Amino acid sequence: MKQTFTTIGLLFFLAVATHAKPLKAGFARAVITPEQPTWLSGYAARTKPSEGKLHDLHAKALALEDERGYRVVIVTTDLLGFSKDLADPIVAAAQKQYGLRREQLLLTSSHTHTAPVVRSNLIGAYALDEEQAARVTAYAKLLHERIVSVIGAAIRDLAPANVSLAHGTGSFAINRRERTPQGAIKIGLNPQGVVDHDIPALIVESLDGQLRGVFFAYACHNTTLTDKIMSVSGDYAGFAQAAFESAHPNTTAMFAMGCGADINPNPRGTVELGQQHGNSLAAAVDKALSGERRTLAGRFKTAFATIPLAYAKLPTREELKAMQSDSSGSNVFKQRLATRWLARYDREGKLPASYPYPIHALQLGTNFTLIALGGEVVTDYALRLKKELGTQGLMVLGYANEVMAYIPSARMYQEGGYEVVDSMIYYDHPTTWTPALEEQIIGKAKAMAAQVGRKP
Ligand SMILES: [Zn+2]
Repeated sequence: MKQTFTTIGLLFFLAVATHAKPLKAGFARAVITPEQPTWLSGYAARTKPSEGKLHDLHAKALALEDERGYRVVIVTTDLLGFSKDLADPIVAAAQKQYGLRREQLLLTSSHTHTAPVVRSNLIGAYALDEEQAARVTAYAKLLHERIVSVIGAAIRDLAPANVSLAHGTGSFAINRRERTPQGAIKIGLNPQGVVDHDIPALIVESLDGQLRGVFFAYACHNTTLTDKIMSVSGDYAGFAQAAFESAHPNTTAMFAMGCGADINPNPRGTVELGQQHGNSLAAAVDKALSGERRTLAGRFKTAFATIPLAYAKLPTREELKAMQSDSSGSNVFKQRLATRWLARYDREGKLPASYPYPIHALQLGTNFTLIALGGEVVTDYALRLKKELGTQGLMVLGYANEVMAYIPSARMYQEGGYEVVDSMIYYDHPTTWTPALEEQIIGKAKAMAAQVGRKP
């Protein structure tokens, strides 16, 4: 009898094993280098459009499909950040053409400061004349077409794959919130400040073990190249992707930003340093390939939501008027901001009390959770989510889906600094957020992680 039992057990096991289908994965890429000199994004101090390129910019996509055929597509770009007016039409087109619902498509950006202005993203920072504004519009059209098509190409490339998660570390990221002798916070170097040196990497291999590509993240501004450098590039992340792909021919390397809004590469300032940081990041990902891995298996579950992120006290019409006519000349950006918000005030009779802030949670099988937050998210968020959700099998991204502002943590409202106050002007908001944003975002992200089935 024992013999029969074992045989039945074995047959049952074989039946289940044969039935369990592997995941599928597909990659695609498109060049998104501007076709003519175009205003570069990220630094308000620039006074002219781009001059040539160090290397091409790319949009890349990784499509993943679980055993039921449920799909997720992750897009990475060598861009400063998606504006809502670029992202929304791409999301709509992907739904129409490929049947992807909002929560099945993740758009990310590397936050390179040597790529063109992206539609209305950070538009308050640039002095564009009519011709340059037209080029930014033309570039947005190019981005829309190529990103929509790269999503479709990744889906067409879907093939059975082994997908696993590994981790590396990289140490060139340093906290940039430096305290001055007067007690203010300036952008500088703060070696004692928080950092997150983790490099989570999804590794995609064919069933026969051939490396097909990697999707990795690091929490550090792509600002090795400063505002004096006018050539188009992906900064250290562009160099890292190129270095990995040249070390592993016929693979696709995709970079996304972690929560590195208060973090800069160190040292910085030259193209050579961008290459050096890129090489070290590529080497760290390479090393992770031979380290410990968690294999992704099982069903995907995804969730996407926006929460109304509240503004602090809004300016009155009179205050906007005063800001607009302030001719002290010290802040042309505030004047531009006041003009735009006055127009909105007069059109709608009031200013909005909040901004719809996107949070994305993707559970890709039992072993991997990806939490992707919108905006320039500071390190505290990733560190807190890792502490409260557990570090195992977790990737936390910032700069995801839409970059509408900095997302400081609650403590920073006491400390002040660019991330809290001045950046809101460049990002075209009528005032700052409130310290309540941290609990609001963390609370919702944790609820969504639970909703998609993350087990701490
Ligand atoms: Zn930034």
